[in-house]
Amino acid sequence: MIEPKANITDRFGRVHDYLRISLTERCNLRCFYCMPEEGVQLREKSEFMTAEELISIAKTFVGMGVKKIRLTGGEPLIKKNAELIIRELGKLSVELAITTNAVIVDRFIDVFKEAGIKSVNVSLDSLKEDCFNDISRRNYFKQIKENIDLLIANDFNVKINAVVIRGVNETEITDFVEWSRKENVHVRFIEFMPFDGNNWNTEKKVSFKEILEDVENTFGKDGFYKIEDQPNDTARNFRMIGGKGTFGIISSVTNPFCDTCNRIRLTADGKIKNCLFSEDESDLLSAYRRGESIEDKIRRSFALKHKERGGLSEFSNEEVRKHKNRSMTSIGG
Ligand code: SAM
Ligand code: SF4
Repeated sequence: MIEPKANITDRFGRVHDYLRISLTERCNLRCFYCMPEEGVQLREKSEFMTAEELISIAKTFVGMGVKKIRLTGGEPLIKKNAELIIRELGKLSVELAITTNAVIVDRFIDVFKEAGIKSVNVSLDSLKEDCFNDISRRNYFKQIKENIDLLIANDFNVKINAVVIRGVNETEITDFVEWSRKENVHVRFIEFMPFDGNNWNTEKKVSFKEILEDVENTFGKDGFYKIEDQPNDTARNFRMIGGKGTFGIISSVTNPFCDTCNRIRLTADGKIKNCLFSEDESDLLSAYRRGESIEDKIRRSFALKHKERGGLSEFSNEEVRKHKNRSMTSIGG
């Protein structure tokens, strides 16, 4: 039994009870908006959390009120010992979830079930094989589609993350929505966000408003309806009339939902980021290895959390250029 301690709260009264842990910065895909073309720099193994360290640090967070843990990366399932980590975290009294590109999900179906994972987020940015393979710079489209079917057949709640980028896949928005009508999948369109090495600019972003207008123009305003969003949900969600699944839009750039943020990010090398866009990080792993109290470090990090966007004043080309951050693959999305 983990002893409960005070919650992780910031100056603005936000309680942080949702921990996203990156298992690795490495990946078996190379999505151009996430992974710099040259890949991530290889670093010593000792710079990253071992499975035991990760599990122990996760337990500290659970003692501080964390109620939900999401495993992410890089690609979490390629981490050595991913199976052990999933099983051990499954024993904690938290909701456990995972975000994966699904390339090797078929090997983990039983592990997910045993760990009590009910919901799996899968990234898929195009329903066209050529386009998807171009985006991910690899050739796993068919395998991923088969694995999504496998997850649905095994009764997982399957959410599909699609980053919408102008000139790349914005013509497929309504195809994704149509998919959510026919099948029990929950598509979430994500506005393209700026990270180091992904050549972001405002022109490439397709906004919440534009995505919704596209759906309205194709299916009519009466063709779909708004459904209730879960508390702290980052997506605004909708369902097609007669739809088996749903679709939603995550407006991280045009309306970044900072006022209800409850997220903590732990990178694979053991740093806490108190916001996806924060320049500052706090080195939890080194403190842990020195035997210091990591609770104090966690609290100090959140005491300094900015009100909005990790201190980035706005998502303009100029401000983004000045702002230092990691690439998404090394943060953990
Ligand atoms: N490899 C796993 C995957 O792709 O699902 C987990 C890690 S990935 C970094 C987590 C999520 O971040 C994915 O859904 C991905 O689409 C999203 N993502 C990565 N870069 C992004 C960006 N620049 N803007 C918006 N979403 C991004
Ligand atoms: Fe890998 Fe996921 Fe990034 Fe694509 S989005 S490169 S699958 S970590």
